[in-house]
Amino acid sequence: MSDTGNQRFADIKLLYVEDEISTREQITRVLSNRGYHLISCENGQAGLDAYCELRPDIVLTDIMMPVMNGLEMSRRIRIFDPEAQIVCMTAFSETSYLMQAINIGISQFVLKPVEFSRLLAALDHCLHIIELKKRQRTLEAEAQRSRKLEAIGILAGGMAHDFNNLLQVILGYVSLARMNAEAGSKTAELLGIAEKSTETARQLGKRLLTLAKGGDAVMTPTDLPQLILAGLEAELFGSPVSYVTDLPSDLPQLPVDAAQIRHVISHLTINAREAMPEGGTLQVSAAPCTLAAMNGQALEPGEYLHIIFKDLGVGIPEENLSRIFDPYFTTKEMGSQKGMGLGLAISHSIIRHHHGQIQAESTPGSGTSIHIYLPFSQPNR
Ligand code: ADP
Ligand code: MG
Repeated sequence: MSDTGNQRFADIKLLYVEDEISTREQITRVLSNRGYHLISCENGQAGLDAYCELRPDIVLTDIMMPVMNGLEMSRRIRIFDPEAQIVCMTAFSETSYLMQAINIGISQFVLKPVEFSRLLAALDHCLHIIELKKRQRTLEAEAQRSRKLEAIGILAGGMAHDFNNLLQVILGYVSLARMNAEAGSKTAELLGIAEKSTETARQLGKRLLTLAKGGDAVMTPTDLPQLILAGLEAELFGSPVSYVTDLPSDLPQLPVDAAQIRHVISHLTINAREAMPEGGTLQVSAAPCTLAAMNGQALEPGEYLHIIFKDLGVGIPEENLSRIFDPYFTTKEMGSQKGMGLGLAISHSIIRHHHGQIQAESTPGSGTSIHIYLPFSQPNR
């Protein structure tokens, strides 16, 4: 058995409920060798308590047991969690329970005396279902996030468009008035301030338009490693944060809008810098990867460049992780140049318009990794 196989099982908590000591010891040995993270109990009541406390991924249970039998335990577990994966072990003489078990929603049975290959196959089936459900949840979350961002983007884009037109008029008149004001006068000075603010507002409008439409992307073959290095150098110059990179030297060029991707690189670098105010190291790596169908990501199968920005900064609390791509979500001082809460929202929009994906994983107190997948070829539009 391979190490990766073991690792796959080690992440799975398996609750095993069996009253018969010798069977319990034997099966415990087999499943532990297989690599499962095993919790074993000797009757249905103990199993139910362990389920509620530990929320295992799979339950493997005998039926006939003292205190509470396996079917009653399963029925209660299913009330608690209708999607619980339960495998029942039944002796041939107990098959009268089968109808009851089917009604409870138990779909996997292993006949006693247990044939280990059958048992492992039943557990593999449960694992497969768990993985499918997990994949489906990821896809749904990504689709929901995209829909939400798209709706916000349309609203923001519409407003930005109208505002930009109005600001254009205001800017024009303010500039005209300033030209007519006496040079060096208080009026000229005040009009200068108004002009600057209007220009800042116009820049904001442009950013909101990028958020809405991902801008009008112009895809040209681009040397991504070079673009990444230029962004890191520019944003970290003179800061206490340094960077190390692991970028392939022989990478084919990627069809991207270089200016937009450069924006993304800048946003991520600035976020990492701000997450490590006392200094530290930002690690940036890129490597080609092949995503198969059913890859667990909301991505078409194909060849991608997987880029990772990994900082060792403050990290992101669990409750914020699903919100960091929302426009105007920020934990930084609002209003200043620092906290606009648009960096990741714009990055998300840009990457989605490149038919890629951006995701975050973080451990509060330890750091954050931002993963980007960019396709090596853009679909024909
Ligand atoms: P802003 O940086 O203006 O707040 P962003 O959209 O760039 O807006 O980021 C949104 C929020 O996500 C930040 O306020 C911060 O809470 C969190 N965040 C983003 N990147 C990181 C990071 N590398 N480390 C810790 N928190 C981060
Ligand atoms: Mg930011």
